[in-house]
Order: sequence, then C-alpha cells, then structure tokens
Amino acid sequence: MKKVLLTGTMAIMGIVLLTSCGENEKKSAGVNEFNYIADRFEDISVLRYRLPGFEQLTLAEKEFIYYLSEAALCGRDIFWDQNFRYNLVIRKTIEAVTGTYSGDRESDEFKAFITYAKRVFFANGIHHHYSNDKFVPGFSPEYFASIVQYSDHSLLPLKEGQTPDDLLAFLTPVLFDPDIFAKKVDQSDGVDMIASSANNFYEGVTQKEVEEYYASLIDPADTRPVSWGLNSKIVKSEGKITEVLYRSGGLYGPAIDSIIYWLEKAKEVALSDTQERELELLIDYYRTGDLKTWDDYNVLWAGNTGLTVDYINGFIETYGDPLGMKATWESVVDYKDIEASKRTAVITANAQWFEDNSPVNPAYRKDKVTGVAASVINVAMLGGDCYPASPLGINLPNSNWIRTEAGSKSVTLANITDAKDIVARGSGFLQEFAWDEAEIERAVRFGSLADALHTDMHECIGHASGKLAPGTDPNALKNYASPLEEMRADLFALYYMMDPKMRELDLMESDDAAKAEYDNYIRNGFMTQLARISPGKDIEQAHMRCRSAIAHWVYERGLEENVIETIRRDEKTFVKINNYDKLRSLFGEMLKEVQRIKSEGDFEAGRNMIEKYGVKIDQALHNEILERYARLDLAPYSGFVNPRLVPVSDAQGKIIDVMVEYCDDYLEQMMEYGKRYSFLN
Ligand code: ZN
Repeated sequence: MKKVLLTGTMAIMGIVLLTSCGENEKKSAGVNEFNYIADRFEDISVLRYRLPGFEQLTLAEKEFIYYLSEAALCGRDIFWDQNFRYNLVIRKTIEAVTGTYSGDRESDEFKAFITYAKRVFFANGIHHHYSNDKFVPGFSPEYFASIVQYSDHSLLPLKEGQTPDDLLAFLTPVLFDPDIFAKKVDQSDGVDMIASSANNFYEGVTQKEVEEYYASLIDPADTRPVSWGLNSKIVKSEGKITEVLYRSGGLYGPAIDSIIYWLEKAKEVALSDTQERELELLIDYYRTGDLKTWDDYNVLWAGNTGLTVDYINGFIETYGDPLGMKATWESVVDYKDIEASKRTAVITANAQWFEDNSPVNPAYRKDKVTGVAASVINVAMLGGDCYPASPLGINLPNSNWIRTEAGSKSVTLANITDAKDIVARGSGFLQEFAWDEAEIERAVRFGSLADALHTDMHECIGHASGKLAPGTDPNALKNYASPLEEMRADLFALYYMMDPKMRELDLMESDDAAKAEYDNYIRNGFMTQLARISPGKDIEQAHMRCRSAIAHWVYERGLEENVIETIRRDEKTFVKINNYDKLRSLFGEMLKEVQRIKSEGDFEAGRNMIEKYGVKIDQALHNEILERYARLDLAPYSGFVNPRLVPVSDAQGKIIDVMVEYCDDYLEQMMEYGKRYSFLN
C-alpha cells in the first residue's frame, strides 16, 4: 500500500473539545492546552496538528522548511483543476460570496451555503474526496443566484464580456443537475471510465484511444520505464491526440513557476549537497516536464535517508485517474521526530536480544537480526492531494524499478496520528467501549505511548524476526500469508510490551502502558474494529483478520482460567482482562505457533487459524457494535488545517527565525489560501 489514508473506515473522530487531560499535558510540555478540533460539519471533522520540537530545530532547518512549505502551498490550484475542469471557477465564485455577501448571513439558507462551501473546500472540488460523488447543495438554485447577486461582482471569475448572469447560467446546472458530472472517478465495470469520469486528465478522447496511444509509446521490454503519462493531460482536437505537459510554460505553468520560485530558495539553503542536487533535478523536471529527469530525481531522493528535514513535492499518486496513469499534485514537508527516532534506535539496537529471548523455537530464530529503522516524522505542511485529508504514512517512490534498485522511504506521520488519536480518545469512544474508569484512565494517560511502542516494535523488530526452515517454500501460505505475517509482528510487539526489558531500556516507566495496549488490542480485535464492516460481511482485510484471530485465539485459550472475560452490562457487551501476565504468556504461545506455521510453511494450520478465529463475525455482536457506534455520531472522515509558518527577518531582510502560528479557523484558512496561492484561472 502506497499510502495509509485517513479514510472513513479508519478514522474514529469525535467532536468533543479536549482541553487538559493528562495525555494532553504530557504532550504539550509548557503549552497548557491545545484544541485539536478546528471544525465539524456533515461527515467531516477538521483537526489541527502540532509541530512538536520545531523551536529546537536549527535556523537553517527552519528556513529550509519554510521555503519548502511555501512550495507545498503553491500547487493547490493544480489539484483543484485536475479534479474537475470547472472547480476553480466554482471556488472563486464561492470565495466571492463567502467573503462579501451583504445579505442576511445568519439565515438557515446561508448557513447551508457555508456548509456546502466547507465541503467543497475540503474535497478540493465539488466531488466528495472519498466517494467521488458530486455534492448535493442544501439550498436552491434561486437562492444561489440571489447570494451571488448581493456579493462583490469584481471578485467573480468573469471571462471577457461575461456578466454575472452568464456565469450563473453556466454554473447552475454544473452544481445542481445530478445527471451531469455526477462522479469524479467512475470505475464501474463496462463503462468508458474516461468519458464517465468528471476529472480533468483527458479531453475529447475515449478510453480505447488513450490505451492505444500509450501502447504505441511503451516498450514492454524496457526494464527501467519512465512513469508514462504521469504529468500530462491528453487532449484530442481535430482528430489528433496530443499530450499537454504539466510544466513551466505548459499546462499549469503559472502555479509551477511559483513552486519553482520557492524550490530555488530552498535549494540555496539545502541541508546537504545531495539535497541540493535533488532540488536541482526537481526544478529541472518542473521546467521541462521530462519524466527521465523525474526518475533521476527519485533515485537520488530514495537513497537520501536519515535526514532531519525531508519533503515530497510533485505529481505522485495516480488514484484519481481511472486508468492509474495521471498523477495528482501533492506535497508534504516534514522533519524528524527526535524523541520517536531515539525510541526506534533503542529498539533496533537491541533487536538481537529480543530475537534471542523470544518464545519462538530456537531453530526458527534468526542468528543475526538487523532491525529496520522505521522513520518517524512530524509534518510541517500539507499541500495539494495531502490537504486537508492527510495520509498517516507514506511509502515512496512508486516506480517499481526505482524501489528495487534505489530503495524506498517509509515514514509514519507522528503528529498527524497523534492528533487523530487524542481526539478519538476524547470522543466518547472509550466511555462507550471501555469496561471501567481504570481502563479509560490508562488509555488516556498511556494510550499514545503504548500505540507508538507497539508500532515501533511491530515494524522495527517484529517483521524482521524469525527464519524459515531449510527447504520451506516462501509462498507456501498463499492467501493466508499476509494476515499471518501481521500476526507475527503484532504478537512479537505484544509479547515484549510487558517484558521487564522495556523498563530496563527506559522505553516505559511501568507496566501501565503495556496494560493499556493489551486493553486496546483485545477490545479492538474482539469488538470495535467491527464498526468498519458492513452488516452481514466477513472480515477481509489482513490487519483486521490478524487482530480478530489474535483476540479470539487467546480468549479461547484463556477461557478456563478466565484470563479474558466477556461481560454484559446494560444490554451492552464488554471485554475485560483479568490476568495480564497470563495473557502475555498466551501471546508468547501464539507467537511460537505462528512462527512455526511460517517457518514450516504449514498451510493447513495457517488456514485453520485464520478461518476459525479471524474471518467470521458474531452477527448479534456486530449489530450491537454498529448501533453503539452510530449513537456516538463520530465523523467518518477527517482532515487537517495547516499551521502558519511566519518568517522573522532582520533589518537587512535576512530570515533570523521562523515562528509557528496555529490556525483555528478552517474557513479562514481556506479563504486565506484562496487569496495567497491562486495562480490559475
Ligand atoms: Zn505490519
């Protein structure tokens, strides 16, 4: 998976304002309270993320981040236009009304308009960011005409000779007619996906023509192919198909020139020679549109690891194109999470100890284990396709041959994940699903650390551990390989969470973080993850099968000793752990068995384990969980407002510091971006 997205199924967001719980205080270190919620409307909550440790960065690092962040914001219009060709005209009209409508701004209809505006801003266009369906405005075309009438006409995106009435006549069906431009991306079977998708990667061509066009260009024997079609629009006019490149002087030229302007500044203060060379190639690529240069850039970028400050910037992900070729523009600027990186360094440095002391059969332990240093970063700015809906983790580049030859970078976005977790804990979720106050208290105080440690152990040592018996076919486990592999990594983490070694290494102060992790894991595997599954369906996703299998297996094994108990209270189901030490040894036993299955390629045992414990759902419990979730009224989708980075200059105009301001008004940020980063028509 290239990107772990904050999707409807993953996000468990709430609307409760968190002010000063224990966790919050710990994280704030000097800041008394931080309000993580910026806005809530329809199916969306908009959060804020913090920039921990930003003040401690060097001036050079801050300056570098600042320039890259400006570059990250300059491509916003590109993404809007890629989503749908009339999005920019619509946005400018919405901005004019939002900013200047002089009628009754308190009326229900105007509020409905503002909600619509917020949805469009969130989706970077008039189609839902996740479902791709066109939004249905909560107001009438007549009302829309009246508010446009009473807004500042000089701000409307009128073309030469066009009147506000002409603009309205044009926009009304686009916004209100459910039958036109209904879906941004249509991948239904049997349709011409290009003709029926409203996005803006192709004009006047059929799917067949596009496929033929690229078939004529691509050499299947090429072992290092460029990413054909990545940065262009295909246009057919007068019977001729042409590829219009996204580049300086080409399509999106003015926005790309602004990106280049800030990348040039960043290049001047690049933190290493390699990074300088990298930016040189990226700028060159933006000037020429040459995909070979893009590959050269990616080879350099992929190999340039261990940095304090890094970024992505370009036409990268192809989810928006039904044919999977054209990439949307996006950018993220990030800096290393020093604390988390220390943590992963400690774990990685002790990888051999963990391996040698695991409950796994010694024959299936690795003699020499090298932990993988997962990199944990904090986001400083999100742009394009990463804003406001942000990924939680990123693994790039996408080009397969570059991944094989030059490697790839995999990062988790710590401050984004934290904001999401902290809000989720304040959402009433724990009050609904945790057994008692002690469990809630543990989750609030230790949940973030527990979560982070689990992820670190899973990634750095869990997946890296163990070996196959001689002669075992590595593909023997077939379709059960992924959930079993996730189980191995999870069990490794769970088993060691409660080991005295964790305290010895100063990774946690007491067992409470481990207990919080056990509570959360069992509650999730047994109950709460079912909220992501439609009624009547089985569990399919590998990570979910893994969690279900672990929770149910240890539950069954511990039944006699009542290690985990299911209890009914007020017609609701709860799980309660009665014996944490025994649970730990059950995790150890299961780890031993799962490693055996993998090492010996025991397909039958693997299948039995997954099918028996990981796939089927108790229907009554499923319905109950879905109902309890629905009552919590959590927003299924979430995204983020960016902080504002403000340079401080001396009398000569030289930057001497960069300050962070946290924006708490989502609509205001959208209006500000519309003013400051509008380069296209
Ligand atoms: Zn994993």
